[in-house]
Amino acid sequence: MQSAVDVAIVGAGPAGCATALSLRTHSPALSIGLIEQASYETARPGEVLPGIARGTLESLGIWEAFEHERWRPVYAVASAWGAPVLRENHAIYSWPGHGWHLDRARFDGFLAKQAEARGVAVLTGVRVEGAARTECGWHIEISAGAPIHARFIVDATGRTASIVRRFGALPVSLDPLVGFSRFFPADEDSEPRTLIEAAADGWWYTAALTGNRRVATFMTDPDIARQYRLDRESSWREALEQTRFIRCAVPARPACGEMVRPAGSAYLEQPAGDGWIAAGDAACAHDPLSGQGIARSLRSGILASYAISDFLRSGSASSIERYRRLIQHGWSGYLAARRRYYLEEQRWPERSFWRRRHASADN
Ligand SMILES: Cc1cc2nc3c(=O)[nH]c(=O)nc-3n(C[C@H](O)[C@H](O)[C@H](O)COP(=O)(O)OP(=O)(O)OC[C@H]3O[C@@H](n4cnc5c(N)ncnc54)[C@H](O)[C@@H]3O)c2cc1C
Repeated sequence: MQSAVDVAIVGAGPAGCATALSLRTHSPALSIGLIEQASYETARPGEVLPGIARGTLESLGIWEAFEHERWRPVYAVASAWGAPVLRENHAIYSWPGHGWHLDRARFDGFLAKQAEARGVAVLTGVRVEGAARTECGWHIEISAGAPIHARFIVDATGRTASIVRRFGALPVSLDPLVGFSRFFPADEDSEPRTLIEAAADGWWYTAALTGNRRVATFMTDPDIARQYRLDRESSWREALEQTRFIRCAVPARPACGEMVRPAGSAYLEQPAGDGWIAAGDAACAHDPLSGQGIARSLRSGILASYAISDFLRSGSASSIERYRRLIQHGWSGYLAARRRYYLEEQRWPERSFWRRRHASADN
């Protein structure tokens, strides 16, 4: 990568890659550096991409390449929420059509390759260690190689918002939800639907993955997870056995992998400022119940790219202000939906997990 670029994007997940791809389309004269600490070898959270993302992939110019990757389709989501019965939501009844089971590491690697093929300089396996304001941009320290200078910096580092928090923009967390996932080898004909099930102390989901694997996740609060000892596979299994539907879809074999991830709702009060923008989860992180994290992150990358192009062309802060308003507007809509969903489940009002959700909805 050149030591000076117009735009440095930190984090090559969906938000960072979408920002880069969209900038290449709308402002091809800008030089872009995309810096990613990982090498896309390990599992990442976020396995189901809803059909609504198709329009976004089309506007990024990568729909055909995405289709060519042959992701496994998801035709239905079935949830036991508010009552002990499975209610199905079939893709055929929604206009965007079916969604896809992703292997997130492969999907993120695919996005980064698409960006690289369009002339974005991609650095993987390199961590951004710090970013300091200079008179005409940013001085960016990286874990390997010479520092990079950029006129504009994008924080697309996910929930950690690890760049902007260095200059004081701290995410405000609404809840401490955490996901305990385990992965299993699965048969090709295993449950094809994504299943969601509310439980007394949280909620579960399971989905098939590409490569004949399955993920099952228990979403709960950290203190409840400690009581259950969810870090142990045997205790996690005991909790699974208390479910009615999820347990039937999870193979009775030992797990071949596990992952613990924060999954609560969090937002930045200031998602953009002078010469910087936060995109994707770094700006607003959603509860996975929404099933929209990846699609929203891709869209926020596109919005960020418009704001950055205008800002670098005109020097006016109005595009940055508009971006802030759009992000805040989207966040308000999300909060209303989150409130509605958690209030729909009233079977365990005395249990801490639900009491906390209902109290925060009332506030
Ligand atoms: C348990 C769980 C299940 C989920 N399930 C779904 C789902 O089924 N469907 C869905 O749509 N969403 C789901 N989500 C949400 C989804 O994972 C996120 O919304 C999405 O990944 C956000 O994309 P992003 O690009 O903003 O951030 P991320 O995907 O987190 O990408 C950030 C990138 O920045 C890199 N990075 C971080 N710091 C640095 C640094 N200092 N230097 C260089 N690189 C850095 C990271 O390595 C990473 O690649 C789930 C989330 C959780 C926690």
